[in-house]
Amino acid sequence: MRIGALEAGGTKMVMGIFDGEGQSLETETIPTRAPEKTVPELIDWFRREKIDALGIGTFGPVNLKKDSPSYGTITSTPKAGWRGYPLLTMLTDALNVPAAIDTDVNAAAIAECRMGAAKDCRSAVYVTVGTGIGAGIVVNGEPVHGLVHPEVGHMLMRPHPLDPMPQGVCPYHESCLEGLASGPALSKRAGRSAEELPDGDPIFTLEANYLAQMCVNLILTVSPEKIMIGGGVLQRSFMLDRIRKITVELLGGYVQAPEVNARIDRYIVLPKLFPISGLIGAYLLGREALTGEKE
Ligand code: ADP
Ligand code: ZN
Repeated sequence: MRIGALEAGGTKMVMGIFDGEGQSLETETIPTRAPEKTVPELIDWFRREKIDALGIGTFGPVNLKKDSPSYGTITSTPKAGWRGYPLLTMLTDALNVPAAIDTDVNAAAIAECRMGAAKDCRSAVYVTVGTGIGAGIVVNGEPVHGLVHPEVGHMLMRPHPLDPMPQGVCPYHESCLEGLASGPALSKRAGRSAEELPDGDPIFTLEANYLAQMCVNLILTVSPEKIMIGGGVLQRSFMLDRIRKITVELLGGYVQAPEVNARIDRYIVLPKLFPISGLIGAYLLGREALTGEKE
């Protein structure tokens, strides 16, 4: 069994081939350009690899309604040429194999729930804090789609009183999470690249506060058994402890569960399969499309 996996990102496309046991046999990465250039390259590679099924975790927003004529189509992205692009159909028409698609973050969340940091959790959230902020939500073992799919990155925040840029950088919303706490938001506020900031910069106090607000909102709405936070900004390893501490403070003792009080260090954690959570999730989607089996 040769399962093709695609993690379709805004800057790069990561492709993989896995056997039925989840062993990685091959990987390849190409830059993301316009779909007319990029998708034929994907098709060529997967054709050469003779895959039996394909799973896709993609940047969004993407239509995930299986009964819709535009299922698997990228919807309102600002990425050049990708708006309205029928990614799933273009790939399945050419490759003619069973296929499944979900968001990149839902794919990562599935992988972490089945094989990673949230193994054995029925409900968990996977968050990535990088160029954007996105989250995949798994409830009762299944990724949440609902109306479209969750857009945790755009939840509205309470701006921190010391934030010099309380409106944020999102073109759609004032003071949303991504607008206030993504890598580009850090850089804009600091006037230099986020990677260059010293660990002691007060910007990271604001950052921890916003990510803690996010955790509180997730705990109160989704009630996950675990929250995993990864992505470029979490390369600052001290961030996780600050987020945990502020989360407990902001919850104010209201949620009576030892997981979010005494055991918060095991509740808000780094993802385990980084940096390939999304690719492994895509593999799991592909295998499920072929065999109908989730595990
Ligand atoms: P992407 O989100 O594009 O897939 P990443 O998760 O690596 O990729 O995130 C890149 C973003 O994270 C950039 O905005 C960058 O400024 C920020 N970033 C990367 N490393 C660090 C770091 N050590 N400290 C703070 N910000 C970082
Ligand atoms: Zn927004």
